[in-house]
Amino acid sequence: MQRIIVQVNKLKNNIQAELDRFLEQLQGELGQFIGFPVATDIDYSRLAPFFNVFMNNIGDPYDTAGLFRAHCKDKEQEVIGFYADLLDAPRGGCWGYVTSGSTEGNLYGLYVARERYPDGIVFYSEGAHYSIAKNCHLLGLTGVAVPTQENGEIDYLMLMAKLAEHRDRPAIVVATVGTTMTEARDDPGLIRIVLAGAGIAQYHIHCDAALAGNYACFIDSTERYDFGAGADTMAVSGYKFLGTPMPCGVVLCRAELARPIADRVAYIANPDSTISGSRSGHAPLAMWYAITALRQEGFQRRYEASLGLADYALRQLQALGWKAWRNPGALTVMLAAPPPALRYKWQLATADGWSHVICLPGVTKQRVDAFVSDLRAV
Ligand SMILES: *Cc1c(COP(=O)(O)O)cnc(C)c1O
Repeated sequence: MQRIIVQVNKLKNNIQAELDRFLEQLQGELGQFIGFPVATDIDYSRLAPFFNVFMNNIGDPYDTAGLFRAHCKDKEQEVIGFYADLLDAPRGGCWGYVTSGSTEGNLYGLYVARERYPDGIVFYSEGAHYSIAKNCHLLGLTGVAVPTQENGEIDYLMLMAKLAEHRDRPAIVVATVGTTMTEARDDPGLIRIVLAGAGIAQYHIHCDAALAGNYACFIDSTERYDFGAGADTMAVSGYKFLGTPMPCGVVLCRAELARPIADRVAYIANPDSTISGSRSGHAPLAMWYAITALRQEGFQRRYEASLGLADYALRQLQALGWKAWRNPGALTVMLAAPPPALRYKWQLATADGWSHVICLPGVTKQRVDAFVSDLRAV
């Protein structure tokens, strides 16, 4: 008996030691990266007690009459309302929900587009996220990749040419608002002009705004990248700019486009309007916590501080004589790929000889300086 108790205690201690070690390891990784689009400045520890209770925001976020009441759909609705304002969506004419991330948001957007135009063809840039091609495949949609300009933005003349080849079919155009590699923004307003030029009247525009959707409205420019600019559906990630403890995002949709999907399965009494059935309650709670603490002013303040840091990083790299550039308004700085050891140390994504650093909130001037001094040493 004594032996068993000793062993159980040892095991308990082992579990605690392993948890402590793992936490320290994770915190070490998070303190060292400069290339991954995740903010680390928001303290979510006040939510810790919620991780010992079950929540499930199953089904439609606006359906709160179901039997299961351990959910936070009222908070989820606030999150959707906040992003509807941020993305200039028609108030009251907009539906959405908290997703597991922008891959799901893109799936939902393309699903809505396919229900609207079953014979539509999807056009997206070669700089688009890999989830677009995957989702086309899942939905049985034909996808056409369009070359990009040098900065990573879709080549509008090439888009015009590709659209013209399929003039007889409706067009589903994905505008990437902040590409994964260069943070280039496709302009939905220009895309609509191109669609009109190609003589296509039936179209759907989905904006994949995973990162930049959080702050595109604060960019010092006349261009818009939201519902006001003609988006029909939009996906934005929650964990990137807000650094929530788990992957998540929102998808928004013009309400009249969402309704047919929900209606089709209404026989289960509740509108089954989301991609997954059971959904995290903790993710919307974390997003609600961040938006409630920050408000739009906090989003803008954090964006502008990050923009200043991105500009600083660019100037430091250029002062070093290291090849570097940045899209206007972007928090992503492109630089000629450093040697593999540094790419590993700083967790830098690299493609075609270029790497990027992303100055999201949480990255400090000290970290940029440490990175630049590592570069100086090679
Ligand atoms: C990160 C990203 C995604 C995917 O988001 P997940 O949340 O990882 O599913 C989609 N599109 C773009 C442009 C991204 O940067």
